[in-house]
Amino acid sequence: MSETKIATVAIIGGGLVGSLNAIYFANRGWKVDLYELRPDMRLPEQKKLQRGKSINLALSERGLSALRATGLDLETVILDSAVPMHSRMVHLGKEGRQMSQPYSIHGEHINAVDRARLNELLLDQAEKMSNVTIYFEHQLHQADLKKGSMVFFQGETKSEVTKYADLIVGADGAYSKMRAQMMRKIRMDYQQQYIDTGYCELYMPPVMVNDQPHYALDPNHLHIWPRHTHMLIALPNPDKSFTCTLFMPFDMFENVSSKQKLIAFFQENFNDAIPLIGEDRLVDDYFSNPRGALITVKTSPHHYSDKAVIVGDAAHAMVPFYGQGMNCGFQDIQVFHKVLDAHNIKPTVHNNSISGLATALAAYSDERVKDAHAICDLAMYNHYEMRSAVTSTRFLARKKLEGW
Ligand code: FAD
Repeated sequence: MSETKIATVAIIGGGLVGSLNAIYFANRGWKVDLYELRPDMRLPEQKKLQRGKSINLALSERGLSALRATGLDLETVILDSAVPMHSRMVHLGKEGRQMSQPYSIHGEHINAVDRARLNELLLDQAEKMSNVTIYFEHQLHQADLKKGSMVFFQGETKSEVTKYADLIVGADGAYSKMRAQMMRKIRMDYQQQYIDTGYCELYMPPVMVNDQPHYALDPNHLHIWPRHTHMLIALPNPDKSFTCTLFMPFDMFENVSSKQKLIAFFQENFNDAIPLIGEDRLVDDYFSNPRGALITVKTSPHHYSDKAVIVGDAAHAMVPFYGQGMNCGFQDIQVFHKVLDAHNIKPTVHNNSISGLATALAAYSDERVKDAHAICDLAMYNHYEMRSAVTSTRFLARKKLEGW
C-alpha cells in the first residue's frame, strides 16, 4: 500500500545559518526540527555567558538579500539597530593620521550588527512558525544517513536520544559533526588550513559628554590600523561603543606577555587607540579574553544522495577578513531554496522518498561549491589587503583613479 506524509527536515545547528534555514523550510511547508548543542541563548542566564567568535559583524547586501527573500520583516528589524559603515578609516603611522576610503563611489555600505541579536531574531521568528520545533541542548553525536536516524547527547546528563528525518542539514559550523558523518559515506574532498594569525577582542567604550554617550571614533566607518604583519580593527555598536579586534601572529601574542610589554606594543603600533580603550581596560581585555584561531575549510560535494546537505561554515569556513562568512552562509540558504523551487520539490514523502530531491541536491552542490571556494580565496587575499595593501602607494594611486 502506498504511503504519503509531510516531509521532515532535521537542521543541525541553531546558529545564524541554521536558524535562517529553519524559517525557509517552514515557509515551504516542511516539518522542521532544529537541534542546537547549546542552551537557548535568549535565556537571561545565558546572555551573560555568551562569548565567542565576534560580538558584532558586517552584514552586507549578500546576506540582506537572503533575509529579504523570506518575505518576513527581518531585514527592517535588524537594520533598525544596525550602524551603516560607508567607508573604511585607515589609521596610518604612529600618530594615527586617519584616511577615509569609501567602499563604493555609489554610496553602498555594509552594516555593523550585533551577532547575538541577529541570532535571537532568527530563533524568535523560527519559533513563531507552527511547523518548527527547536531542541536546545541536543548535540549531534552520530547519524545513519541512509536511514535518516540521528543520535544526540541531550541535556546536562548527556543522555542519548535517537531522532529521525527525511533530510538532514548540517549547519553546525566549521568543526561540523554532520560533515564528519558525511565524509564516512562519500568521497568528499576536504581541505582545511589554519593561518598563523589569531584574534582577541577588546572593548572601546563610549565617550561621555555632559552625561551623554558619544562614539570615540567616527561611527560610519570600519576602522583599521594596518601594520603589515598585524592589525587592529574596530566596528561600531548601536550603544556608541566599538568592538575592536586585534589580529596578529600567535607568536606575537606570546611575546606580548606582560602589562608593560602590552602598553609598549600599543604605544608603538596603535597609540591613538590607547586613550580611547583606556589602559586598564586594554590590559584586562587582552589578558582575559579568549584568543581565537582562524580556519579555512573547503569541501566538495556539499550533499549526499537525497539524504543530507551541509551549509554555512560546515561547508565553507573562511577567514573573517572579507566579512562574508555569515553573508555567504545566508546566501547558501537562498540559493538552496531557489534550487528546490527550480526542481519543484514538494514537502511530501511518498513511499519513503521525496520526488526529485536527489537531483536537486546534486544541482545545489554543482552550483555552490565553486562559488564557496572562490569566496574562501577572496577572504584569504583580503587579509593581505587589510593589514598591508591599503597603505601602499600603488593601492592609493589606483583608488584615486577609481574616483575618490
Ligand atoms: P556557527 O555560527 O558556527 O553556528 C553553528 C551552530 O551549530 C552553533 O550554534 C553551535 O553551537 C551548533 N553546533 C555545533 N556542533 C553541533 C552539534 N554537534 N550538534 C548540534 N549543534 C551543534 N561573517 C560575516 O559575514 N561578517 C563578518 O563581519 C564576520 N566577522 C567575523 C569575525 C570573526 C572574528 C569570526 C571568527 C568570524 C566572522 N564572520 C563574519 C564569520 C561568521 O561568524 C560565520 O561565517 C558564521 O557564524 C557561520 O554561521 P553558521 O551558522 O554556519 O555556523
